[in-house]
Amino acid sequence: MLDNILHKGSLKPYNLSYNELIYLLALEDKESCEKLFQAAYSVKLKEVGNKVNLRGLIEMSNICAKDCFYCGIRKSNANVERFQLDKESILRMANWAYEQNYGSVVLQAGEIESKKNSDLIEDLVQNISKIGDGSLGITLSLGEQSWDTYQRWLDAGAHRYLLRIESSTPELYHKLHPQDHSYERRVECLKILTKIGFQTGTGVLIGVPNQTLENLANDILFFKAMNIGMIGMGPYLPHIDTPLGKDIQLTSEYSEKQLTLGLKMIATTRLFLHDVNIASTTALQALANNGRELGLLAGANVIMPNVTDTQYRKNYQLYAQKPAINENSEQSRDNLTKSIQSIGEEINWGVRGDAPHYSK
Ligand code: SAH
Repeated sequence: MLDNILHKGSLKPYNLSYNELIYLLALEDKESCEKLFQAAYSVKLKEVGNKVNLRGLIEMSNICAKDCFYCGIRKSNANVERFQLDKESILRMANWAYEQNYGSVVLQAGEIESKKNSDLIEDLVQNISKIGDGSLGITLSLGEQSWDTYQRWLDAGAHRYLLRIESSTPELYHKLHPQDHSYERRVECLKILTKIGFQTGTGVLIGVPNQTLENLANDILFFKAMNIGMIGMGPYLPHIDTPLGKDIQLTSEYSEKQLTLGLKMIATTRLFLHDVNIASTTALQALANNGRELGLLAGANVIMPNVTDTQYRKNYQLYAQKPAINENSEQSRDNLTKSIQSIGEEINWGVRGDAPHYSK
C-alpha cells in the first residue's frame, strides 16, 4: 500500500487523493516515514536538483497589532521588549546579505497597518531593490494589508509575499485567534497578492492543539486550490507567555512528535505539489540541531538564515527554544554552509531562486 501511494505521488503532481494524503501524514514507524521522506526527496531532485535557495531573514520589528493565541510577540504579551529597526540598520543588513551572495532577503515583522508603516516599507523596498542593480530578491512577510498597500510595495520592487493562512480550516483558525481576526480577510489577502502579481507563499502551523490529520490534508489541498508556489510552514512550538502554550511541557517526547509531523507534512506536500518552493523553517531547528537539514532531506529546498543583528534576536521569539539567538550572522552563515554540504546538498549562491511553478 505505502509503496503504491509513494509511486503514484511521484509520477505527477496532484496525483494523490485526500485519503492518501491522510494515510501518509499518519505514518508512524520509522521505516515508513523514511520511505516517505526519500520519495519526496526524489521528487525534489527531479524538480529543483540538490540545490538550496537562501533568503536572508531580517526580523525588522516585533510590534504587532494582532493577538494570535500561539505567538510569543502577540500584542498582549507584556513581557516582550518591543523594537523597530531603523532604515539604516535594515539597509545595512540587506547589503550584508547581498555581499554574502544570499541572492534574496525577507523582511518580516509583526503586523502593523498604518500609513507610516506603509510608507516606511515602500521606501525600504525601493532602496533594497537598488542593491546589486536590482538583482537581490525581496520577499515581504508583513501580514494583512490593504490592496493599495500591497500594490505600492509590489510597485516599489518586492516580488514575493509570504502570508501563512495558519490553518485553512475556519473552525480551527477561530480556535487559534481572537474573534476579531478574520479568516475570510486572510484568504482575501492571499487572493489579492496573487492577483496583483506577487509570487504568493502561505503555510500553516503543524501540530497545533486541536488540529487533526484531516485538517492538515485539507491544508495541502488548499495550497493547490489557491495556486500557491511557495510554502513556509513549521511545527508549532509552545511559548510560555501565550494562552495556547502556557500549559504545554516541551518534553523530548513532544519535541520528537512535532519534528516528525513537521517532516511528514513537508514530504507529503512535496509529493503532492511537486514544483513549489518549500522552506525548511527555523522551527524545525528549534526541535533538533539538524532539523533544517532533515527538512531538506524530506523535500524542502529553501532556508532562511537569520541576518538580524544578534542584540534583537532575543526579542523576536515567536516560540520557545528559538535557535541561534546568541549567534551573529557570520556564525549563522558558516554553520549553515557546513551543514548543508554535509548532507550532500549545494547552495544556489547569488540567485533569486524562484520556484519552477512560476516558469510554467
Ligand atoms: N506578522 C506576519 C509574520 C508573522 S511571524 C504575518 O502575520 O504574516 C511568522 C510565522 O511564525 C507566523 O505566520 C506563524 O505561523 C509562526 N509562528 C508564530 N507563533 C508560532 C509558534 N508558537 N510556533 C511555531 N510557529 C509560530
